[in-house]
Amino acid sequence: MTGKEIRDSFLRFFAQQGHQIVPSASLVPASDPTLMFTNAGMVPFKNIFLGIEKPPHPRVVDSQKCLRVSGKHNDLEEVGRDTYHHTFFEMLGNWSFGDYYKKDAILWAWQLLTDVWKLPKDKLWATVYKTDDEAEEWWRKQTDINRDQIQRFGEKDNFWEMGETGPCGPCSEIHIDRGPGMCERENTPGHVCAVNGGCPRYIELWNLVFIQYNRSADQSLTERHLLSRDCRSCPCGGVCHHRRRGANQRGARVRLTADHASRVASRSFARLRGSIFLPSHRERYSALCLGVSRIGRTEGLCH
Ligand SMILES: [Zn+2]
Repeated sequence: MTGKEIRDSFLRFFAQQGHQIVPSASLVPASDPTLMFTNAGMVPFKNIFLGIEKPPHPRVVDSQKCLRVSGKHNDLEEVGRDTYHHTFFEMLGNWSFGDYYKKDAILWAWQLLTDVWKLPKDKLWATVYKTDDEAEEWWRKQTDINRDQIQRFGEKDNFWEMGETGPCGPCSEIHIDRGPGMCERENTPGHVCAVNGGCPRYIELWNLVFIQYNRSADQSLTERHLLSRDCRSCPCGGVCHHRRRGANQRGARVRLTADHASRVASRSFARLRGSIFLPSHRERYSALCLGVSRIGRTEGLCH
């Protein structure tokens, strides 16, 4: 499958589940002065999560262009050090605004990965937040994932926050084991390949975020459904890493900056930090910046 086929198939699958397909928002957020670039699939829907705007539809699916060269999600310094951090990529997202929740989000992610895209079930691992019994229960009840391949992690890996305060909640991730040959830390003393273990053998394909809480300034958490009479008021979103999905599918140890780039890149190049990939990434995001019309009116964004 090409990148286009993966994107089309994702949009089509969720459209079949009643989602409205919406276009990618601009790389430069039009009405968010806190962000220089759209750096996550969540960004265009931030005001909906905050209750400021009404959603266009209870279920939405999109393919969002993202750039991570600044701010909280700055991956620029990681580019060239490994084969799975990127500056520009797309996030494929399915979003529920007070509609479906953990049960369907988990089921549909599993169906798309295993029934439609035919990824090997025994290579897939699910993670849930350490106290999220409900998410683990749905993984066990309605999927045939290997039971010992569901793992629990803490705040660092399985709790999503938009900022210091505001909407936040546990997440459930899907990782794939690409095999021992994909490890790039064989020579690191004490390294053990594992989910969230810091090597590209296991990579995250999908993140299901359940925006269950509001964090107050005193850092306390309030269940969102207690803030509303509608017990289904919690939004949730699933983000599939388009490029990583493609990387896995090809079995390639390459940085998939684009389909054509993947054909010429190789792991040996990826290890030459600064010599090939870093300049190519910088040129690439500079070109993207120039392509965003608002940039021309905002000095100093690209350099
Ligand atoms: Zn490893």
